[in-house]
Amino acid sequence: MTYVLAREEFIKMRNNIRRAVQALDVCWKCQKVSECQKYILGHTVLVWLCNGCLSVIEKPAVERPRTRTHAAAPNVPDSWASLR
Ligand SMILES: [Zn+2]
Repeated sequence: MTYVLAREEFIKMRNNIRRAVQALDVCWKCQKVSECQKYILGHTVLVWLCNGCLSVIEKPAVERPRTRTHAAAPNVPDSWASLR
């Protein structure tokens, strides 16, 4: 019994591998052959993108440093001027 189950697992695994190989496609953006995923561009055009480009497209803006809350130099009391 366990042998049959193991065999089924093996077939399942093999199918998964086959599927993964079939998933290889040319990335629409970087033109590299990679495991691509469907991405709907502008909600209309279906393209294939590799994971790298996908993550770039999903987060288009390069994460900018957050607008800093005033990190101005602390106001030094006038009395400290003599310490300089
Ligand atoms: Zn790509």
